[in-house]
Amino acid sequence: MPSISRRGFLGGTAAATLSTFALSSAVFAKESDIKWDETYNVVVIGAGGAGLAAAVTAKEAGAKKVVVIEKMAFPGGNTIRAGGGINAAIKADYEKAGITDSPELHAKQTLAAGDGRGDPKLVNQLTAKAPESVQWLKDHGVKFQDNIYQIYGGLYKRARNPIGPRGGAYIKALVENCKKLDIPIMLNTQVLEVVREKQLSGKVLGVKVKQKDGKVLYIRATNAVVAAGGGFAASDRLSALHDPRMEKLGTTNHPGATGDLLIDLIDIGADTRGLDYIQCIPGNVKGETHAPNLFTHVDRFIFVNLDGKRFINEDARRDVLRDAMLDQPEAIAWTIVDADGFEEQKNSKGPENEAARKAGTLYIGDSIEDLAKKTNIPVEELKKSFEQYNTAVDTKKDPMGRAPTVLVNKLAKAPFYAGRVTMQRHHTMGGVVINEKAQVIDRHGNVIPGLYAAGEVTGGIHGTNRVGGNAMADIFTYGRIAGENAAKNPI
Ligand SMILES: Cc1cc2nc3c(=O)[nH]c(=O)nc-3n(C[C@H](O)[C@H](O)[C@H](O)COP(=O)(O)OP(=O)(O)OC[C@H]3O[C@@H](n4cnc5c(N)ncnc54)[C@H](O)[C@@H]3O)c2cc1C
Repeated sequence: MPSISRRGFLGGTAAATLSTFALSSAVFAKESDIKWDETYNVVVIGAGGAGLAAAVTAKEAGAKKVVVIEKMAFPGGNTIRAGGGINAAIKADYEKAGITDSPELHAKQTLAAGDGRGDPKLVNQLTAKAPESVQWLKDHGVKFQDNIYQIYGGLYKRARNPIGPRGGAYIKALVENCKKLDIPIMLNTQVLEVVREKQLSGKVLGVKVKQKDGKVLYIRATNAVVAAGGGFAASDRLSALHDPRMEKLGTTNHPGATGDLLIDLIDIGADTRGLDYIQCIPGNVKGETHAPNLFTHVDRFIFVNLDGKRFINEDARRDVLRDAMLDQPEAIAWTIVDADGFEEQKNSKGPENEAARKAGTLYIGDSIEDLAKKTNIPVEELKKSFEQYNTAVDTKKDPMGRAPTVLVNKLAKAPFYAGRVTMQRHHTMGGVVINEKAQVIDRHGNVIPGLYAAGEVTGGIHGTNRVGGNAMADIFTYGRIAGENAAKNPI
């Protein structure tokens, strides 16, 4: 077998850099060389939202045998951790909210928020099909709250939350569907390699996996493999490759979000897009656990820095908010809501905030003065910030530049709640390149036969900056597309 330096044939700079992590194990499989231990029509890698949606759709589209392979001890990935806010321009919902919207406006805003780096074809399909994805979730047992809201970094009132345990509500419903449809989920089983006829050519044949007890299996996919392994924001090393600031930050992600599947895909020739773009959101300050989440509903909260001063319009893009907070003293800010704001976020953030209260990271003040005393924020500055914001709500003009649509609720009703946060790595916008059928594209622009991908492992949708609430729309839309096409893929 020939020995090839992978670095030599990697295309883009990002791919070349990432590939240096994966030079050790070369696989040059031939179908005849491998003794397959198990055979399925469709093999899905990753039991997060994208993978489970793909598996259920593949089975419903006629694939007889479908399996989901998951390296962690339980399904869910980052999806189970998510707040669950999902964007979709659904007529009944935006008319009820008294606003105008459309999939076209959603696409336009998504492309603009990613500085035009998203692929317009993928983005247009995403926003056109996002309403169907919400309906598909309802048809598969997910119940939603009636109201829509502007989620943090969402830039428009377009998100809705499931009823129940946030992102867990999606996972619970989809796992139940897998059970009903007889789709096994192999837990504690890590995909080590995606096996292709030749390393950089031919169709994808299946996967090599390692189970918890160290047993290695080869699993054949007669139709296709769907790669849905999520992002890499839990990897300090991969995250810091292009943005050194990232190394010092913590992460909101589950421990399995390490990007190993992304590297496996690069190893068999997959092209990548946008690996430099790493999104952050507020989370724990170093040394603390259980930061409260008071920032989900943009029309309800303000940021102030340790000096008590507002420093940014809170409805800005997530990358703008990240950079603004990292520029503040100690890179720390306070998030503040009043009693009504706290109440409104209860459905999605109730358990998180209760945990914060118990951990002593949720500060509660009966008045602005009391809050200042408990948080050690200079009282006069804090009062000025409240006054500045409340006046902006009255006049619909905010010196910090917040839009009138999110200048609707004053911080008026005591008690006031505050939580100290810094930025944490949250989402990786980059990943493998796919086309509109969710087929993975190689570094020469060709389809890799028998390989589909969906969710955070893909790149080229969110551009430089993902809009809040668009990941859920993405994973369920492209998960469904990948599953349907994988089921129909010629053998
Ligand atoms: C705290 C938090 C809150 C969020 N809130 C929101 C929100 O409200 N709205 C929104 O739109 N987005 C939100 N996001 C982003 C969103 O949750 C993710 O982008 C999305 O869930 C990714 O889904 P996925 O299916 O692609 O990956 P995941 O859900 O992460 O699933 C990938 C799965 O693949 C498994 N895996 C990886 N590699 C392998 C391998 N080699 N072998 C086997 N298995 C493997 C992983 O263990 C994981 O279970 C949030 C993210 C976090 C962390």
